[in-house]
Amino acid sequence: MQDEARALGAAVADIAAEADAMSAIHPGVRQALRDSGLAGLMVPAAYGGRADQVDPLAVCLVREVFMRASSHLDSMFALQGIGSYAITVGGTDEQRAQWLPKVASLETLAALALTEENAGSDLKNVSTTLTEKDGSLVVRGAKSFISNAGAADFFVTLVSEEAGLSLVLVPADTPGLTTTPSPELIAPHVLGEVGFDDVVLPPEARLGVPGKAMSLVLGTLAVFRVSVAGAACGLAAGALAEAARHARTREQFGRPLLRHGPVAQLLADSWNDVEMARLLTYQAAAAARSDAAGALNRSSMAKVAATEAASRVVDRCVQVMGRWGLVADSPIERYYRQARPMRIYEGASEVLKLGIARALCDEI
Ligand SMILES: Cc1cc2nc3c(=O)[nH]c(=O)nc-3n(C[C@H](O)[C@H](O)[C@H](O)COP(=O)(O)OP(=O)(O)OC[C@H]3O[C@@H](n4cnc5c(N)ncnc54)[C@H](O)[C@@H]3O)c2cc1C
Repeated sequence: MQDEARALGAAVADIAAEADAMSAIHPGVRQALRDSGLAGLMVPAAYGGRADQVDPLAVCLVREVFMRASSHLDSMFALQGIGSYAITVGGTDEQRAQWLPKVASLETLAALALTEENAGSDLKNVSTTLTEKDGSLVVRGAKSFISNAGAADFFVTLVSEEAGLSLVLVPADTPGLTTTPSPELIAPHVLGEVGFDDVVLPPEARLGVPGKAMSLVLGTLAVFRVSVAGAACGLAAGALAEAARHARTREQFGRPLLRHGPVAQLLADSWNDVEMARLLTYQAAAAARSDAAGALNRSSMAKVAATEAASRVVDRCVQVMGRWGLVADSPIERYYRQARPMRIYEGASEVLKLGIARALCDEI
């Protein structure tokens, strides 16, 4: 499977820089991912997927390869799982049959819409409302910074209603749903703002039990948070390979940079960081295979460790490469920009550390 992922990474190498600069879907990357069949890892075999269940370790290993090759490829792959997992675990047979095979084949693009202007880390604060009217569901409000918005075919959407927080599945072509681009980021990403102007849905649009959305959201995070760690390991390893190649070949003061002690230390510290992050990531992902919810703290640890390590590593690598580390749209400069958002999305490091510390105190 890693070989398949590497083959796809190599196949998109020529278009990776172009795709990573885009905030819309790159058709060539979409077609290549589609042809590879690897998006089938994101849904169960019963609905066209590759394994009986979505396997957090498999997703993690593939994201490690993809992120090293192209952040656009990585996020396209990841979103198929993140955006559809609530359907896999909380949907009805009809919802699964309608959407999941098309997610696996990439005919359909998925999105998960949680964040709002005033609800980021604090998701309990969402103000998009769901009301029932004449037997229909009516959604009103707005979501912000939603990956795939503008391209997605459906949005699994977090809403507030009398019973508490709930999830609904909103097809993108439902009247009243609009998308506009989010601000451009330092590392471009397919990202949009989603408006729900009295969007009317049938009762079958509900996902899971009214008022119990957080169990489905946490279920999604339990499987996919550790895959961000996998992606961060891939990014860090890619940056380190660039810097090591440079340090071996560039000479200053009569010898390769590698032979200057401080440079060697930057590289050795970085390799240590990559391997430590990778071990924790694989361990957490393996634990998540048998009990994703039970392994959530491990996954949070891996996500914090790997994304913080990736930032440290890529910063050192830029330093090792001197002025060539700064050239816009070069691989190392792309890694440098792409590392930064990973410490914020799917749980900011500081927020995850609160949960990790709570779990530590509960355990001792
Ligand atoms: C590239 C990208 C893609 C995204 N895709 C999606 C998507 O597909 N769907 C979606 O719903 N959202 C998405 N988001 C939004 C993302 O989930 C939020 O940015 C994230 O949850 C953090 O929320 P915030 O940005 O509002 O930061 P805030 O919640 O305002 O927090 C800002 C900072 O304050 C600190 N902080 C906040 N609360 C605490 C606390 N309790 N304790 C300690 N420190 C704290 C942290 O350092 C944090 O970084 C995406 C964001 C990005 C950048």
